Amino acid sequence: MSVIGFIGLGNMGLPMATNLVKAGYEVQGVDPAPQALKAAQAVGVKACGSVGVAAAKADAIITMLPNGEIVLKVHEAIAEAAGPGAVLIDSSTIDVASARQASQMALAAGLLAVDAPVSGGVGGATAGTLTFMAGGSKEAFQKASPFLDIMGGKTVYCGEAGAGQAAKICNNMLLGISMIGACEAFALADKLGLSAEAAFNVISTSSGSCWSVNTYCPVPGVGPQSPADNGYEAGFAAGLMLKDLKLAQEAARSSRQATPLGHQAKEIYQQFVEAGGGEVDFSGIIRSLKSED
Ligand code: NAD
Repeated sequence: MSVIGFIGLGNMGLPMATNLVKAGYEVQGVDPAPQALKAAQAVGVKACGSVGVAAAKADAIITMLPNGEIVLKVHEAIAEAAGPGAVLIDSSTIDVASARQASQMALAAGLLAVDAPVSGGVGGATAGTLTFMAGGSKEAFQKASPFLDIMGGKTVYCGEAGAGQAAKICNNMLLGISMIGACEAFALADKLGLSAEAAFNVISTSSGSCWSVNTYCPVPGVGPQSPADNGYEAGFAAGLMLKDLKLAQEAARSSRQATPLGHQAKEIYQQFVEAGGGEVDFSGIIRSLKSED
């Protein structure tokens, strides 16, 4: 049975590692936060004192970390320690440039590398139903797939290194824009005397239909159950949406692609987060729409 190194056992990493342990793998975990490591030990993860120790005997090393800078530092340590042919899977959400750099570093050390960010949040990580968006060579992807299949319900192969991160930020940029659009439509409907129920019934079955309305309606009491029905408790926190919108703007700048609505969405979520909304579900942005009386 394969040994897996798991680096970063936070809100997402812990349930992902838990599912690997449940599937019978030996998981060697690293996290500088003592409480994270303790929680991981409680579910059967073996605590390691360093990234090098966790990587040395592993067939696969998975990272679930906050940002590109940390990922690059950790991947440097993995590249020094891991045995040839091991596959390195980074499931953190990071910038495309760092993802490509991490992949090059791994290849130079004789390792296989896949960037495989996720959608599905803590709920999906716990249930093992995450969607992975994967980038890297076909060989690396094939080696990573059995591990991704345990932690997720679906994996989309997107292309070469960095393609997974590119897919993730393009999707989330569109999600941020469409959620703001949905909120504006419901706010205007209200001002025009239209009930939320009537607005939902029309939009969700018309050309304005989209995931932000049909599945994740930002107004309570209409449509399927969503965080709006639960006081906008996350869900997918606005602070994480802001992180992804910033990554999208970074990528738009460096690739010289105009994304005016992506830029505007980033500004709107930034204001919301600065006003204290970082922990609120991202559909709670509807609260920030000021009426123009
Ligand atoms: P988190 O802050 O809960 O977990 C990150 C963990 O990494 C922490 O436990 C931290 O101590 C650890 N860490 C930091 N530096 C480290 C290092 N040098 N070595 C080892 N461990 C280190 O964050 P999270 O919510 O688990 O998110 C992880 C990644 O997944 C992020 O990139 C995030 O954008 C992405 N993501 C999160 C969600 C979500 O709903 N939480 C959804 C999709 C994607």
